Amino acid sequence: MERTCGGAGHRLHDFRSDTVTLPTASMMEAIQTARLGDAARGDDPTVNELEALARELTGKADALLLPSGTMANLAAIVGHQCRGGEVIVEESAHLYNAEGGGLSVVAGAIARPIRGEHGVLAPRDIEAVLIRDDDITVAPTRLVCVENTHNAAGGEVVQPAVLEALHRVASRAGVPVHVDGARLFNAAAYLGTTIEALCRHADSVWFSLCKGLGGPIGAILAGDAEFMQRARRAAKMLGGSMRQAGLIAAPAMVALQSDPYRVHRRDNALARTLATKLAAIDGSLVDVERVKTNIVNCHVDRYTDDAAVIVGALRERGVLVNGRRSKVRFVAHSQVDEASVETAASALSDALESIADRRHAAARVTHSL
Ligand SMILES: *Cc1c(COP(=O)(O)O)cnc(C)c1O
Repeated sequence: MERTCGGAGHRLHDFRSDTVTLPTASMMEAIQTARLGDAARGDDPTVNELEALARELTGKADALLLPSGTMANLAAIVGHQCRGGEVIVEESAHLYNAEGGGLSVVAGAIARPIRGEHGVLAPRDIEAVLIRDDDITVAPTRLVCVENTHNAAGGEVVQPAVLEALHRVASRAGVPVHVDGARLFNAAAYLGTTIEALCRHADSVWFSLCKGLGGPIGAILAGDAEFMQRARRAAKMLGGSMRQAGLIAAPAMVALQSDPYRVHRRDNALARTLATKLAAIDGSLVDVERVKTNIVNCHVDRYTDDAAVIVGALRERGVLVNGRRSKVRFVAHSQVDEASVETAASALSDALESIADRRHAAARVTHSL
């Protein structure tokens, strides 16, 4: 699906996030023909179908459709009874940095941020900070959160062996592990495995329906029956109990039934292609080997410490990206393609050249004064 901006036929290549995809024609059709009911009463057949498929995909006893990933994380934290306790998070985790502080405001928990290697927590570091109930001077550890793929670390993948080790360490202390799997399909596609394999060492997990899957709204939270009973109550409290939610389940079903692993492999490959092209412009921009899934972090510090300059220059050339400080982020998804990647690379090359030219011109002026 193409969107146009500016002059006739001028195509906009939107790499800001994989959340920008618009529902496809078949998703819109599924929305119009979806069988609906009151989901809060268990009466929506399309939601029931989606939750059944989600149980199968994750291998968990229960799965719940929620309106967002932020609510899924929050429902999980409340469901794991974290109030008054510590939640171990990687220091650049989305849950800790980008969810409005809900962890403390709503769930009443303390974050224990731990630095991971490229966003991946080391089991020995977790073991060192796990706090058991018998120490009355401190808040006990109630949960370990793992982000897979890791957003801020540029789509880094947590390997199944690491998940297993983290789970083993946490379980020994009686602490559950929650996987923030917004982009779990990207991780599975990279590893050539299933999301079930990545859920095996998680006591709870959620994945997004509106990132790589391309649906318009929604997230799936899954876990065992006892946990999910508490998470379902938490979601009710948070306002996440929906009515004719088949309207959002139907397009998600379309995505889940049309080889989601293939779709995510494509996105990952597209990001790798982009990374390679950017590195060819200047090797300092991207560490290609780090680009495993659909996110490309591009470091422009050699040119500017204000990414907004690059964001603006790319926008003028029909390419949308996010930028902060000296980092520009490209995210691949189903509505960008090889041509978008080509355009993005040449736009960045142009933008960097014009910055360099301006700098040289400024230097000449200073020199002649
Ligand atoms: C997008 C994202 C979220 C939040 O999901 P929303 O559906 O936008 O609320 C949480 N964690 C990670 C890692 C994400 O990428």
